[in-house]
Amino acid sequence: MMHYQFPKAELHLHLDGSINPKLAYTLAKQLDLIQPQEDYAAFSHRMIVPEDVPDLATYLACFDLPLALLQHRKAIEECTYDLIKRLCDEGIVYAEIRFAPQYHLQKGLNQKDALEAVLEGVDKAKADGLPIQIGIICCMMIDPVNDNDALNWTTLDLAYHYLDKGVVAIDLAGAEGAVPMDHYRPFFEKARSLNVPYTIHAGEAGGPDHVESAIKMGAKRIGHGGNCIHDPSIVEMVRTNDVTLEMCPTSNVHCKNQPSYPNHPLKPLYQHGIKVTVSCDNRTLSDITLLDEYDHLIDDMGLTIKDIIQMNINAFNAAFGLTSSQKRYYIDQLNTLLSHG
Ligand SMILES: [Zn+2]
Repeated sequence: MMHYQFPKAELHLHLDGSINPKLAYTLAKQLDLIQPQEDYAAFSHRMIVPEDVPDLATYLACFDLPLALLQHRKAIEECTYDLIKRLCDEGIVYAEIRFAPQYHLQKGLNQKDALEAVLEGVDKAKADGLPIQIGIICCMMIDPVNDNDALNWTTLDLAYHYLDKGVVAIDLAGAEGAVPMDHYRPFFEKARSLNVPYTIHAGEAGGPDHVESAIKMGAKRIGHGGNCIHDPSIVEMVRTNDVTLEMCPTSNVHCKNQPSYPNHPLKPLYQHGIKVTVSCDNRTLSDITLLDEYDHLIDDMGLTIKDIIQMNINAFNAAFGLTSSQKRYYIDQLNTLLSHG
């Protein structure tokens, strides 16, 4: 697309929600995960959230098929590689892909196997010379039913051991609010003591108090965070703590966490001086690319290309996996575009 020809960064992208349906169909056939009579059209419908999703359960059900596939090393590696290739096609030069290693244990893999398979996909992209840098974020999960503390500790330990070997940070994802945020304080205290960077999903489905908790736990980046807008004192807290928000408008509208694009908090927060960035969250579930997401910012929110360039400057600045000179390289290019109108 012509009008977004500048270096782009995407910080918030889940592997399991971003699998290429065509590749998934091929892999599902190879792995005997679908009925022989199921055609591609029916299959892909199971991975893409319907336009007007009736409830959260319908949304979450769209993860079942990708997760069934991603129990196999080869499928994990191929899906990772394929996603990276598609990011390149959009002109993204830096992306952070996140996944929860503990969601890949159904067929005998352990968390380390799952991470290594993802990293093999990243290495293959590097070996092929794809012009993109990738950082992997390992998600700890909020489980509303089971005590998964041990699994989360393993995820943190794994991220620590693979830091600078492809992993750039940890995250906390899952059913926001199902377990009090404070429960995860020891995990982030430990992460801080190990110098493992982190981001936290907060203020997506939950309220401003979750954003406040995440900041008090030391998060410099927050996944979504939009609901902080309901409490001006928390918006101020985000601003004064120089926190970057990884915002994903389409995902929020789909999940009904925000009412619409025009009423999404991205624009008012950006205009208030918050460091806003834009990502897709789940490319396949939401059937969206980053370029589509930018179109929504312009067409439905009244933002400009300059605003989007500024949001990319914010993203490069907040990147977990770039050195300061790499950040400067991209930010200088973007600043030049801004100063030349
Ligand atoms: Zn997310």
